[in-house]
Amino acid sequence: MINLVLFGPPGAGKGTQAFKLKEKFSLIHISTGDLLRSEINDESKLGMEAKTFMDAGKLVPDEVVIGMIHNLMKTNESANGFIFDGFPRTTVQAEELDKMLTKFKTEISVMLSLEVEDEELIRRLLLRGKDSGRADDKDQQVIAARIKEYNDKTAPLIEYYQTQSKHRSIKGIGAIEEIFNQLVFEVDLISQ
Ligand code: ADP
Repeated sequence: MINLVLFGPPGAGKGTQAFKLKEKFSLIHISTGDLLRSEINDESKLGMEAKTFMDAGKLVPDEVVIGMIHNLMKTNESANGFIFDGFPRTTVQAEELDKMLTKFKTEISVMLSLEVEDEELIRRLLLRGKDSGRADDKDQQVIAARIKEYNDKTAPLIEYYQTQSKHRSIKGIGAIEEIFNQLVFEVDLISQ
């Protein structure tokens, strides 16, 4: 199995690259952000709970996202592998993910970290907010809160994967295809 963690701050391009990687390596793409937005669309109890946090640019509680991931993995036991996009975002989530994968007798192959500086992130998110309809991309204060959450709670995961020798850093600025090629290069290295 190939199990990728696609990592990076909001606006780093994880969604775009996850879609391309999923096609290339026939993986199941799991985006917690997409899953949560779909719960909000369905007006489910989980969605309504998550919405308060998302609208404020805060992370949704660990139990909520871990439960969602667990359900999805259970229904995809025979998959070629997974791309985790926007998950894990806290140390608790990373530890839980490791435990779940151990139960599947597999592990994270590599963590691909897209590096983009804050100014460029804010520019991209505001641009996306103009046509994506995502409320959290329209408000500069919410964007700032998301970047702060990333720096406080999510960035420490780089060290988590570094200690497992699984962290790879990729520059997230440039042509989409160029960045994709770099990611593919890293995945090819681990799948040899
Ligand atoms: P972005 O990467 O641009 O922030 P996402 O779609 O990944 O977009 O996430 C949108 C929001 O969904 C986050 O700001 C957060 O509130 C919530 N969210 C997504 N994934 C997680 C997660 N793994 N843990 C906690 N909250 C999450």
